Amino acid sequence: MSAHHSIFGVFSEENITGVANKNQSLKRTIINYLDVTAHATIADLSMELGISPPKTTSLINELIQDGLVQDEGKIDSTGGRRASMFGLVAESCFFIGVDVNRYSINIGLLDFKKNLVTVKMQVPYNLENTKESFEELITIIKKFIAELEVDRNQILAACINLSGRVNTTNGYSYSYFHFYEEPLSATIENAIGIRTFLENDSRAMAYGEFHIGTVKTEKNVLFVNLDYGIGLGILIDGKVYYGKSGFGGELGHVPLFNNQIICHCGKKGCLETEASGQALLRIFKEKIEQGSTSSLVKNGMLPEQLRLDDIIEAANNEDVLSIELIGEIGDKIGRGIALLINIFNPELVILGGSLIETGDYIRLPIRSALNKYSLSLVNNDTQLRLSKLGKKAGVVGGCLMARNRLLSMV
Ligand SMILES: [Zn+2]
Repeated sequence: MSAHHSIFGVFSEENITGVANKNQSLKRTIINYLDVTAHATIADLSMELGISPPKTTSLINELIQDGLVQDEGKIDSTGGRRASMFGLVAESCFFIGVDVNRYSINIGLLDFKKNLVTVKMQVPYNLENTKESFEELITIIKKFIAELEVDRNQILAACINLSGRVNTTNGYSYSYFHFYEEPLSATIENAIGIRTFLENDSRAMAYGEFHIGTVKTEKNVLFVNLDYGIGLGILIDGKVYYGKSGFGGELGHVPLFNNQIICHCGKKGCLETEASGQALLRIFKEKIEQGSTSSLVKNGMLPEQLRLDDIIEAANNEDVLSIELIGEIGDKIGRGIALLINIFNPELVILGGSLIETGDYIRLPIRSALNKYSLSLVNNDTQLRLSKLGKKAGVVGGCLMARNRLLSMV
């Protein structure tokens, strides 16, 4: 018997009725329970599901036949009684996460037990809102799948992280690749032959941190993505917050400045016009034009060729102009986060995105701005930490999104 047909049976959304439907739903509950507890006995499961031990045994046997669950042997429980423990089978099925960045793609494969088994970082790519850029994305995903050693039928879902406005419920993207009438998720699904979800890039990174990153017991957490843009992921009472259409968290477009700079969203005075990586590049070029010096320019690089990574690297190599400008945008980012702290009273704010590779150069001005601009009674509750997953936050979060949305656990 080939296992993947049964796996699809458990996760299928086809309309089945009566006993089969009830059993499918109970099997999903067992999977969700084992996901949280790692192992459980028939007695645990029977109590959790409110069904008899013989019925539980029969469902567990079906899940074992499906290849999703295994008997892990007898393990001493606290009372000294020995009962068989059951757990998920890591290599029974897999999930793909695709983290699309401005100049590169990170792509990874996660197994059923949330281990990242393969990851390819920094695959060169140019994100533009063109059909060519879209085709290139599809090519990169197909190549990654073709090189995997797992049976492609065992890959149950993929999640694509894109910046900008993404409606995760219907799979439409409004900032990139919106040339087709059908949802973008459906176009990608047809092209790669795997069930596909879309997610906003910052929210996917936040999701990675919330599940296997720096978040431990905290339930009210903000994740701020500091990159070319400024993104936000929000966790309230332990649940990811989306807003009505999935557009919640547009911190970058909060109109904090009374300037005349037109943001790429079309409005004026957005936080991104003065505090994003994009703004940092613009200000850096202006400073060079006004006669400031930097090791980057001395090394022969033309200001228009500069990428954000160049300034980050220069700062880490003690380039004074880069360090100063990162300090200036850090103060402005801090103003934006102060606003969030006053509104949300979070217990933890995580800083992520490529700018955090400058460490204290970005963290300290943000910390000091938080003290300056937010209410001290409120910010006393808030810890500020750097992302633990770092560059991998997006790919880990994307894989977890694919897995957990298929299991209906998001
Ligand atoms: Zn804007």
